[in-house]
Amino acid sequence: MPRNYDIAELRRLDIAHHLPAQADWQEIEDLGGSRIITHADGCYIHDGDGNRILDGMAGLWCVNVGYGRDELAEVAREQMLELPYYNSFFKTANAPAILLAEKIASLTGGRLPHVFFNSSGSEANDTILRMVRHYWQVKGEHSRTIVISRHNAYHGSTVAGVSMGGMKVMHGQGFPAPGILPMAGIEHVRQPYWYNEGRDMTPEDFGTACAQAIEDKILEVGPENVAAFIGEPVQGAGGVIIPPANYWPQVEAICRKYGILLVCDEVICGFGRTGNIWGHETVGVKPDIIAMAKGLSSGYLPISAVAVSAEIVQVIKTGGDFVHGYTYSGHPVASAVALRNIEIMEREGLFEKVRNETGPYLAEKLATLRDHPLVGEARSVGLLGAVEVVADKATGARFGGAEGTAGPMVRDICIRNGLMVRGIRDSIVMCPPLIITPSQIDDLIGIIRTSLDEAEPKLR
Ligand code: PLP
Repeated sequence: MPRNYDIAELRRLDIAHHLPAQADWQEIEDLGGSRIITHADGCYIHDGDGNRILDGMAGLWCVNVGYGRDELAEVAREQMLELPYYNSFFKTANAPAILLAEKIASLTGGRLPHVFFNSSGSEANDTILRMVRHYWQVKGEHSRTIVISRHNAYHGSTVAGVSMGGMKVMHGQGFPAPGILPMAGIEHVRQPYWYNEGRDMTPEDFGTACAQAIEDKILEVGPENVAAFIGEPVQGAGGVIIPPANYWPQVEAICRKYGILLVCDEVICGFGRTGNIWGHETVGVKPDIIAMAKGLSSGYLPISAVAVSAEIVQVIKTGGDFVHGYTYSGHPVASAVALRNIEIMEREGLFEKVRNETGPYLAEKLATLRDHPLVGEARSVGLLGAVEVVADKATGARFGGAEGTAGPMVRDICIRNGLMVRGIRDSIVMCPPLIITPSQIDDLIGIIRTSLDEAEPKLR
């Protein structure tokens, strides 16, 4: 049972001491403090004001198995009592980390047999940046240092994560000078966001144009200087951007043509989100390295991983120490929880369920929103979806403001109506737990429709 918190006092302490992530602290203070989430079960979160909210975001794209899994608490308890912590710096390892590495390798079909652990998605991408550059150094191709990414990509919040990411607003904070953020050696190219940037072309022509932008960038900076290309199979935080089907295969072919490593950031797409275990399967490519986090432990404990090809590890092994790693790399408790979490997803057939049942059902239900006067596009892949809010359906004109304000506004109404979604510029996005049922999907879509109805007179 949830504890009996003094919510008013918690709000006061929140304002006085707690600095929430990715937030406007003044706005939160003006609102009288954060919404305090007190407990959760299944697909629902509960707040201190007594509201029960359908979690259409699986926390932050992560609670794949839903809330309240006794089994994960038990396994954490047992592991804490047996071995709560040990590092992997001293030529040491622990059973859960080794077994989890083996499990992840098997989920890649053995294609990426080696696994490096970290605690967050950002750290995983830091690891990747250091690893790909080190790989080329050891291989003797010293000029290969540049990593190509996309505008509006999200790869995390550390300096390397923000740099590889393409969020202008994140690049703009701090020290706005060239080479600081994004850090030197990272290049960005256009994103495959057809609805916003490509409607004057067919999706196929646009997919080709976006892939061509990568080749153009490679030729501009010199292929001999490029280490890797990194991309989310489907951009999540950018606004659930599902690329045209011909985009990724062309990206892979371009990487192979110039001998550039292909990196997929599976932090959101991994573990069944798009209807396959990996997003790269859904988009039809075979990367050399992948980053994963979030669904790896369903968010029950912080853990991330980087899975790497045998060829890369073989080369790095000839170069002595890889002088990189974290105190919590291969954390035994986080690893044990992740291992059991994967077991639950497999036992309950959640990947198949998303592919065959709930993913297609969400797509069908989202399509029913297309007749709404505010909906420019409704799209999804697996259990990852977005609704584009527009002022004019025919032209796709937005309600105004370069960064878009309609999404956050509709989101706030959705939350008041009992649904947690995210507002990203002028879209609302969803990413519910993989255990969501068809009737909960009906509720989710119903609340979005009602909330759009409520938003319309306020927006116009
Ligand atoms: N990569 C992607 C694709 C993400 O969506 C995120 C977080 O949302 C990250 C990396 C960063 O993960 P974390 O917040 O765990 O550092």
